[in-house]
Amino acid sequence: MARSAAPAPVCYRPAMPGSIPSHARVVVIGGGIVGCSVAYHLTKLGWRDVVLLERRELSCGTTWHAAGLVGQLRSSHNLTRLARYGAVLYERLEAETGQATGFRRSGSISVARTAERLIELKRGASMARCFGVDIEVISPSEAGRLWPLMRTDDLAGAVWIPGDGRTNPIDTTLAMARGARQGGATILDNVTVTGIRRERGAATGVSTDQGDIAGEIVVNCAGMWGRQVGQMAGVNVPLHASEHFYIVTEPMGVARDLPVLRDTDGYIYVREEVGGLLMGGFEPVAKPWGMDGIPEDFKFSLLPEDWEHFRLLMEQACIRIPTLETAPVRRHVNGPESFTPDNRYMLGEAPELRNFFVAAGFNSVGIASAAGAGQALAEWIVGGEPSIDLWDVDIRRFMPFQGNARYLRERTREVVGLLYAMHWPFRQPETARNMRCSVLHDRLASRGAVFGVVAGWERANWFATDGVEPRYVYTYGRQNWFPCAAAEHRAVRESVGLFDQTSLAKFRFQGPDAVTTLQRLCANDVDVSPGRIVYTQMLNRRGGIECDLTVTRLADDTYMIVTIAAAATHDADWIRHGIGDSRVTLTDVTSSLTVLGVMGPRSRDLLSRLTGADLSNTTFPFATTREIEIGSAVVRATRITYVGELGWELYIPSEFAATVYEDVVAAGTELGLRHAGYHAMDSLRMEKGYRSWGHDIGSDDTPLEAGLGFAVSFKKADFVGRDALLRQRDKPFARRLVMFTLDHPDPLLLGDEPIYRDGALVGRITSGAYGHTLGRSVGMGYVAHPAGVDAAFVQVGRWELELAMERFPATAQIEPPYDPTSARVRE
Ligand SMILES: Cc1cc2nc3c(=O)[nH]c(=O)nc-3n(C[C@H](O)[C@H](O)[C@H](O)COP(=O)(O)OP(=O)(O)OC[C@H]3O[C@@H](n4cnc5c(N)ncnc54)[C@H](O)[C@@H]3O)c2cc1C
Repeated sequence: MARSAAPAPVCYRPAMPGSIPSHARVVVIGGGIVGCSVAYHLTKLGWRDVVLLERRELSCGTTWHAAGLVGQLRSSHNLTRLARYGAVLYERLEAETGQATGFRRSGSISVARTAERLIELKRGASMARCFGVDIEVISPSEAGRLWPLMRTDDLAGAVWIPGDGRTNPIDTTLAMARGARQGGATILDNVTVTGIRRERGAATGVSTDQGDIAGEIVVNCAGMWGRQVGQMAGVNVPLHASEHFYIVTEPMGVARDLPVLRDTDGYIYVREEVGGLLMGGFEPVAKPWGMDGIPEDFKFSLLPEDWEHFRLLMEQACIRIPTLETAPVRRHVNGPESFTPDNRYMLGEAPELRNFFVAAGFNSVGIASAAGAGQALAEWIVGGEPSIDLWDVDIRRFMPFQGNARYLRERTREVVGLLYAMHWPFRQPETARNMRCSVLHDRLASRGAVFGVVAGWERANWFATDGVEPRYVYTYGRQNWFPCAAAEHRAVRESVGLFDQTSLAKFRFQGPDAVTTLQRLCANDVDVSPGRIVYTQMLNRRGGIECDLTVTRLADDTYMIVTIAAAATHDADWIRHGIGDSRVTLTDVTSSLTVLGVMGPRSRDLLSRLTGADLSNTTFPFATTREIEIGSAVVRATRITYVGELGWELYIPSEFAATVYEDVVAAGTELGLRHAGYHAMDSLRMEKGYRSWGHDIGSDDTPLEAGLGFAVSFKKADFVGRDALLRQRDKPFARRLVMFTLDHPDPLLLGDEPIYRDGALVGRITSGAYGHTLGRSVGMGYVAHPAGVDAAFVQVGRWELELAMERFPATAQIEPPYDPTSARVRE
């Protein structure tokens, strides 16, 4: 049951029957803060023919009851950039539109109750430095001075972000709506979108309870209704609502400029509200809501109070702020908010339907994020592609199964609490597990596999050896799996390791135009003879890396394309976009093939025991593929590696996977075969300098900057992104990917650590891992220098990497620290 809390209605312009326009360039669905931001930013880019439709009144969904916290620090550089823009925009909107937002830069304090949480805060502070956020690590007593009502004797430390703030969600929404209207947009209350009009795979407008509107672009900003609106269009929008709680006390003389306080170990946030305190939080086990649909009359509505559920937050808040124990509570707010399976919002054009965009699922940071998300989406719509790398929030990171209602409900129970839970490195979800499993899953489990999840796939991350419990024990130091992964790593370097790589996304690309189409999309020359494998990128017009793939020519008109599991939807969408009217089809064959990686110097020896095929370097060189017999099965063996050793990936029809696996394991026993997982693979690939898309390379990075120029063929005819690369090619690179190894063997690089050269901040680590062969942490990251980053620049500098606010000397080099000539791969 929902109840209405009915604040002063904020009616904008009610639509009179028959008064809706018949056409608009863009139709925005939803008048919450996000929809208003999208409309506002579209008009800022000069698109005036924009209609925003709201089923009831502006801000009446989730926006109106938000606590209004506007934090700037996010999990990635570009998301932080977008969040920082929020504070800037909300501060200036009143002067621009005449509508106050209520924004105040009160600053924020996050406190740590434990030493590990303090490390987390310090790591965050180091990361913030890379992102240009002003942040300071402060002592408990300094935190107490800034927040006098707080108990501090049990704290380990805190961080202070002076630029964070708070805003009034309703007023901020109205300010953006007013700005949008001033820019030419039409904003209509009381119009419900009932259907999405589609033609030839593209959105062509909407149907409403008051008639149809033809539109070139449709944007789904329907908040927790977003999944439902997506379904109208056949588009997967995986989000689920959850109850979210806060209380407001009676006035108790609290200063208006009190900073926002976050005590995440106690699950809570607190800020001033009309002289009292507003306290809310993210409890470890949440209450998903709206399983049977959202009530028709839901506007300015709240959900019933649940003091029992809120008790945990209340108890924790009283520990931190003892005066709360006796403070009279004026208001208990329980409002629904939508959450996504990974706690990040969704932005972008839906892969299922052209011209249908989504901005939804804001995981309780929609107020802080709306400005940046609206701006980024407007740029995407107007420019035809994102102007910055938005992969973290790109809707194409989700797989179709993630729209499943039961899956979403289960995940939501957990993801709400994860906002404030320890962000342990390698932390794996506990809910909605075992959704996508390789056919070898149970066999691997019986050998001690401990699984992690990527794109829903359960993947063996490590194998517990005798005496190690097969489960994660998290810490910021070396975790319990460290020695297991080290042994797996050594086996791959010294003898042979076995990886289950089934989660790789596999596509068949076939048709008379296969070669010409791929040649246009790929930066490398893929017009090779059948049986050859080409490592290549697909680029956007800026030369940025959209896809990082291996392309295997199977026949004159047929290729197999392989990409990472996480990029399956994204890459398929990019390729389908690129196919256009060409006579070629892309078929996802992921589920039909199990992939075993047999990697290491003894892999040839091992496989030769199972096949009559000649695996010698002459007959079966690196970057080639052949069908061979393994035991009693026929499999496709491809000589490729992501670990920097001799090895083969076996693509096995799934029904033969078990028998091939058993044969490989039996034959490998006397060669020292060891099962190996993705933690070992990460360590191996880092030493070899292999890039990971989504971390080290993405749509903001060109292959030249990333050191992947060897995979670009300037000799062949035109390909997407070529002009951008040509402009870059003959100049010094102002930024370039550089490899680092820490001089000290102990500290662990995890990614996002600032890079210093001669004391100056010049970049950040994009991914890091412990290199077990090198005996120290290895990282890679982009270094920027206006006059160019080349080998000489790298050699002469004094390099340091900052971990949790402490700097450690490092060695930098352009080439990978392990086997830079790839001799081992090609032997
Ligand atoms: C208790 C609470 C506290 C919060 N505190 C904060 C905070 O401190 N900081 C922060 O950043 N975020 C906070 N949030 C999150 C924030 O409120 C949301 O992320 C944000 O409001 C989402 O905005 P939205 O525009 O996506 O959704 P909504 O505000 O729900 O807007 C969606 C709109 O779409 C309309 N709509 C739906 N279907 C249709 C249709 N078919 N036709 C036409 N219109 C339709 C709805 O009526 C609704 O108005 C909080 C949330 C809650 C619940």
